[in-house]
Amino acid sequence: MCCESKRRFLLLYATQKGQAKAIAEEIWQQAGAHGLEADMHCISEMDKYNLETEKDPVVIVISTTGTGEPPDTARKFVKKIQDKTLPPDHFAHLQYGLLGLGDSEYMFFCNGGRTVDRRLQELGAQHFYDTGLADDCVGLELVVDPWIDGLWLALKEALQLQKEKEGMNNAVNAVSSSLSTAPHAVRELKLSSEVQNLKLEDEEARGSDTLSQKLDDINHVAPAGDAEPSLVHSVPPVSQSALNIPALPPEYIEVEFQDTQGENPHLSSLISEGRTFEVPVTKAVQLTREDAVKTALLLELDIADTAFEYQPGDAFCVMCPNNVSEVEKLLHILGLSEKGDNFVCVKVKQGTKKKGAVRPQHIPERSTLKFILTWCLEIRAIPKKAFLRALVECTSDAGEKRRLQELCSRQGASDYTHFIRDSNVCLLDLLHAFPSCKPSLSLLIEHLPKLQARSYSASSSDLYQPGRLCFVFNVVEFPVGPSRPVSRKGVCTGWLAELVAPLLHPSKNSQGTKGESSSIEKISIFPRPTNAFHLPADPSVPFIMVGPGTGIAPFIGFLQHRQKLREQHTDWEFGETWLFFGCRHQDRDYLFKQLQCFLKNGTLTHLKVCFSRDSSAAQVAPPKYVQDVLRLCAKEVARVLLKERGYFYICGDKKHMADDVSDAVVDILSMEMEADKLEAMKRLAMLREAKRYLQDVWS
Ligand code: FAD
Repeated sequence: MCCESKRRFLLLYATQKGQAKAIAEEIWQQAGAHGLEADMHCISEMDKYNLETEKDPVVIVISTTGTGEPPDTARKFVKKIQDKTLPPDHFAHLQYGLLGLGDSEYMFFCNGGRTVDRRLQELGAQHFYDTGLADDCVGLELVVDPWIDGLWLALKEALQLQKEKEGMNNAVNAVSSSLSTAPHAVRELKLSSEVQNLKLEDEEARGSDTLSQKLDDINHVAPAGDAEPSLVHSVPPVSQSALNIPALPPEYIEVEFQDTQGENPHLSSLISEGRTFEVPVTKAVQLTREDAVKTALLLELDIADTAFEYQPGDAFCVMCPNNVSEVEKLLHILGLSEKGDNFVCVKVKQGTKKKGAVRPQHIPERSTLKFILTWCLEIRAIPKKAFLRALVECTSDAGEKRRLQELCSRQGASDYTHFIRDSNVCLLDLLHAFPSCKPSLSLLIEHLPKLQARSYSASSSDLYQPGRLCFVFNVVEFPVGPSRPVSRKGVCTGWLAELVAPLLHPSKNSQGTKGESSSIEKISIFPRPTNAFHLPADPSVPFIMVGPGTGIAPFIGFLQHRQKLREQHTDWEFGETWLFFGCRHQDRDYLFKQLQCFLKNGTLTHLKVCFSRDSSAAQVAPPKYVQDVLRLCAKEVARVLLKERGYFYICGDKKHMADDVSDAVVDILSMEMEADKLEAMKRLAMLREAKRYLQDVWS
């Protein structure tokens, strides 16, 4: 597929949710302007490339999933390179550059990329360019953009070096007298002059991306004296800069409205992870008091008539729709209010310049417009810079146009971070702030990512409550802000809260009694691939659970399971169990007061709780956070972990909590082992490796 006159490099991507692929496509797209040709493949397409014989530089873009695993599409590849029989010079011929994607909110940041990088190094491969590790927590683009910018020079140097190695100069000289009989050398000759030209092309490429604006335009957005920048206003220097804006992504989708009737696809067709189960919500309980900062709900699902199976500690996924009124608003802005129920046929645009363009997998070939906006597209996604760039073209007002250009430009990077990324701005917020922007439906399909199902940890045991699956969640709240004219709730948690409101407030529902099943509301769920966050296989082994806030969810399942096992197997030996729980206020958000029952019946040996916002009259202030309580129990924690081969589990919605807990455990180990911190850290790493120190942390 490579063009004759351009130098090839191999571009591999390993993607889970499409981000690594989108970045690889961006690299692919830009390559042409730099006189290069990317031979791009998904890393799973192992029949289309061969690293064993690859001579050209290799660029790998790889994300991370789960608890630090490479994406599913990279599993085979990783297994192959991890073959222990491979010699240390197996990839000695290989030059590569790697861009890892991750989220520092999760454990093992960028571990997918790191794993591949480490192994390629062990097998003798050489970096031609420094590894980039991009953090979705602060904005992938902070690393991705400069990494791509620097890639071209590194690639050219690598290609030049490769050419020198191959003794190309001799080949070119030898061939100059007999061009017609040596087509291979002709190609190389062209390449030789091309290398000279690359600098020029670079300059041209840069030139085409650079957008100089007249001061007239600039003043339109930033009136003199307006010192406060905002989503819609810029101030110097951004407002007066010439801007480097990304190249306009080529359009590649076309939609065709049809008059025909029919049925929308089944939700199962939207996922690649197996089958979905449509299950009734049989119970909803509000676990927090009305005056608590966050509202936590427990839902119970009836899975009795399904083949859905789970173990305590498993998480599962809930398929959620976008908010109805947001979909309506979007339809209105698109000018398609009348067409919501019309079927739409989505196709790749004829003659598109986007190479390898395919219809996004999450968009059905044929479904109603409302179905696409409700079930397929993450309309709340924070718009990427490429999307902003495309929106510029749909904006008629010059001032709005300029501000959108600034927000996607290099010069406006910190404005983007501040006013879009950190402010959690979504497409609707943008369209509200830039009213002359009128994007097309096809543009939305091209740029909005897949609406992801949300994961929840099971908070029950099938042994304790056969045919039931419970989970606990906080209703996510997005308050009104400078960039957000209305408050919003999380896509999934807001929808669930609304769905179960009749169960929570039975007075509005004449037939219901509080917490009892009176509704036949159903939700679609599917299992998440198995993980290691399970009870120890040997019940005699002790374990410690640390789960502040909704992090307690899986431990309720653990304890229910353990209680049943104790009832059913009176002759078994059971190890001691510890639970560390924390919340803000004892009266408002102590989610499971029935923990006392587990304590009373001996299922739970030790319950340690703390309240971070309750005031205390005690002379010595009580500990506020779970890590503080852990430190108070240092001797016992060390005994369980070091002497009794026990397990340690952490679950919660904040990475810094998990980090604070890990720090506390390191200190405890160091103190009890009478060793320095480094030794203690090594010990903790060994515990992790042995899967005796397990984390389930989400953001
Ligand atoms: P979304 O609309 O997706 O919004 C959430 C996003 O908004 C997050 O990126 C968050 O950082 C951000 N955000 C949150 N609040 C604000 C705010 N005030 N202002 C600005 N931004 C904000 N969650 C549970 O509650 N219970 C569980 O048991 C649970 N288990 C999980 C297990 C796993 C394996 C994983 C990966 C996640 C788990 N989660 C759990 C998280 C859950 O999947 C969802 O992310 C969460 O419920 C929010 O979903 P949502 O659609 O309502 O929010």
